[in-house]
Amino acid sequence: MTHDIADLIDPLVAFRRDIHAHPELGFDERRTAGRIAERLRALGLEVHEGVGRTGVVGVLRHGGSARSIGLRADMDALPIEERTNLPYASRTPGSFHGCGHDGHVAMLLGAAEQLARTRAFHGTVHFFFQPAEEGLGGAREMVKEGLFERFPCDRVFALHNWPDLPAGTIATRPGPIMAAADRFDILLEGRGGHAAMPQDTPDAILAAALLVTQLNSIVSRRIVPTGSAVLSVTQIHGGDTHNVLPATVAITGTVRSFDADVQDRIEAAIRQIAAGVAATDGLAAQVDYHRNYPATVNDADAAQEALDAAATVGTALLAPDPALTSEDFAYMLHACKGAYIWLGQGRAEGTVPLHNPHYDFNDDVLALGVRLHVALVERHLA
Ligand SMILES: [Zn+2]
Ligand SMILES: [Zn+2]
Repeated sequence: MTHDIADLIDPLVAFRRDIHAHPELGFDERRTAGRIAERLRALGLEVHEGVGRTGVVGVLRHGGSARSIGLRADMDALPIEERTNLPYASRTPGSFHGCGHDGHVAMLLGAAEQLARTRAFHGTVHFFFQPAEEGLGGAREMVKEGLFERFPCDRVFALHNWPDLPAGTIATRPGPIMAAADRFDILLEGRGGHAAMPQDTPDAILAAALLVTQLNSIVSRRIVPTGSAVLSVTQIHGGDTHNVLPATVAITGTVRSFDADVQDRIEAAIRQIAAGVAATDGLAAQVDYHRNYPATVNDADAAQEALDAAATVGTALLAPDPALTSEDFAYMLHACKGAYIWLGQGRAEGTVPLHNPHYDFNDDVLALGVRLHVALVERHLA
């Protein structure tokens, strides 16, 4: 089934390193998108540019089957300074491929090249090159613009390189695989006054202390015991000197969850507890609860398909737990059944985590990523 891809790898490594040297931030991926579109056209694919602002879609059809599959790679870099000193390090100050999206782009282009020449499938393959994964919701933008109406898919898959897994291992799981990431900001407001006259001044500091304790009871007391979530208070700001009770104290934190019902309950509990603690102490509470990406939830059949495909090209692993980080592929999985897959890229000499200034995508796993994409297509469109 799988045709040899050895001749594709050297040019792909060069392509990956060129993208690495020229990183572009979310919704600014013009050079990257241009290079992708140019390669896809050269392979004879139908190409659509400007999908979700800077996204690119390539379409490859073969045979008369109505079946279809989507494969996603994200294209954007991170707004941090690279510290690798590699010969192909970023030439753009303050912009760096610290999450390996350069590798994702190269692996998906390699799959397009292989599938365009072997055509061992029947149906339609959609190659989705997505902008702005790092916080700006490029996938949300593409879906909002009717991605799956324009390019319908029975299944959609995305790979992300995963430094915590050894190179050669491919892991996924049915159900939640990445968390929803929310932020809350609470402002306790009183009057402020002399610290020696507490009878005249509501104490926002004491209320903040009570509130932090109460917030930490939400996960244990307000959600179903078989559910799971994290709530962490990460900042408290209040007061300027030793003899003044401050007028305001600000509290900030993060919530991670895997289930919309759990997420709703946590938000409601934060609002209720903040209002209650503030009222008890004669203060007012303003609560701002901001939901970023929702949980990334794999379809059970799609996850099994991914594990079956993975076993034909590498070591397939049923991941025991989801990760607490988040991913905007979640929006594609809301619109289409599919699965998010971790491609191990750990190195024997030690691994640098994602989003670290010393990180670099491991080119040794490019071939495996290409083979996995091809196997997903050849199985689904057999
Ligand atoms: Zn990232
Ligand atoms: Zn990433």
